[in-house]
Amino acid sequence: MSRSSRFISTRGQAPEAGFADVLLAGLAPDGGLYMPAEWPHFGAAEIAAFSGRRYQDVAFEILSRFVGDGFTAAELREDIEAAYAGFEKPEIAPLSAMSGNRYLLELFHGPTFAFKDIALQILGRLFARALTRRGGKATIVAATSGDTGSAAIAALGGLPNITVFVMHPKGRVSEVQRRQMTTSGHANVHNIAIEGSFDDAQSIVKGLFAETAFAREVGLTAVNSINFVRIAAQSVYYFTATATLGKPATFIVPTGNFGDIFAGEAAERMGLDARRLVIATNANDIMARALNEGVYEAGAAHHTLSPSMDIQVASNFERALFEASGRDAGWVREAMAGFARDKRLELPEAVLSSLRARYDARSSDDDDTLSTINAIATTSGRIIDPHTAVAVNALRKFGFREEPMVVLSTAHPAKFADAVKHATGAEPPMPEGLQRVMELPEQLDILPADLSLIRQFISSRLAG
Ligand SMILES: *Cc1c(COP(=O)(O)O)cnc(C)c1O
Repeated sequence: MSRSSRFISTRGQAPEAGFADVLLAGLAPDGGLYMPAEWPHFGAAEIAAFSGRRYQDVAFEILSRFVGDGFTAAELREDIEAAYAGFEKPEIAPLSAMSGNRYLLELFHGPTFAFKDIALQILGRLFARALTRRGGKATIVAATSGDTGSAAIAALGGLPNITVFVMHPKGRVSEVQRRQMTTSGHANVHNIAIEGSFDDAQSIVKGLFAETAFAREVGLTAVNSINFVRIAAQSVYYFTATATLGKPATFIVPTGNFGDIFAGEAAERMGLDARRLVIATNANDIMARALNEGVYEAGAAHHTLSPSMDIQVASNFERALFEASGRDAGWVREAMAGFARDKRLELPEAVLSSLRARYDARSSDDDDTLSTINAIATTSGRIIDPHTAVAVNALRKFGFREEPMVVLSTAHPAKFADAVKHATGAEPPMPEGLQRVMELPEQLDILPADLSLIRQFISSRLAG
């Protein structure tokens, strides 16, 4: 079987795994992240031929290289078709022109109006299929900065043998984001508002996995962006955008957990020709500091107008470090242990220069975000959400180049109506699908950011 459907851990101490194991487990048992043993390769002619093809067909071409014998071709096709059947635009991820050679890659046409749907709609279906085949039950815990939670609920709510626990930082997601999670009405979905930050929620998830007896007993799994299947699914739109443009582009990506932009690196490693990958951060600028100063160091989490990026520890950065170190799992293991201990990691020169060969980084504060939303509305009449605005502003700071400049537009503006209103004086129109959640009753529990309390809560809900 092809090496691209065998997976290894970034920390080098987990057995090789197949696609279905990676899908169901999320995190590798040694605490590392799964990566393909070898990247599949697409030639320039193959990539050019993606132009004009249906998004679903390109997704099939790419994902089938990773799936191996995990699913049949017919199963994979069926799940891809079903995943995108509910999207509002037939292109799934349409490119729209801004001005000159600048484009928005619109990733928010799925059921929850943020880009997380693109991967989770597929992941949910494959997950249910793998679980049915394997038998048993799964408990999914997701830490969300706002959008993963609702996308996971939209993908997994109501499915048999799956119970979903979603933790969001209390008071730090927008009202629409919270309501999208708390109004699903599915009996297998439990929402927890954590009295803490997203990073607290993410570290509780890691802590639950570390309690191996508990994790095994409840069939614990994660659908956070550490799940490689999400990265693979997100790499697809880098290919379709490039094929549509017909030439290599620079991509500017609003970044939190480093999943979406790492999908760009994944596409490049599969043969895509791209110019630069520009990391756009808000005031939570750990990634911009890492790239520009060479020190990956967690600071205090800031609450910003782009809450889905209010993240200090960018989990998927470990994948980029693995590649940048020449797949030196021993070094990654030590580096991550050091970072867990000191909250600080000095990047060795060789690793840093390898990262800089691919990535640039620019950060923006809330004033930049507001003025960018306002400027784009004034000059083009187009309303963008605050996350997209962080990226548009990063593009401005990065400077315009010859090649097409593609900003990943990650959310619908109506999800962040308050910020948009603050910037432009008017609320963006609400799509029908969001209007509905504003009227439904909410279900959530508020808990302290305490690992053992959360574990007890999960156990008692599973028992009840
Ligand atoms: C999740 C999210 C991001 C950040 O993506 P990462 O993969 O975590 O870097 C950006 N914008 C929006 C709207 C999001 O939901």
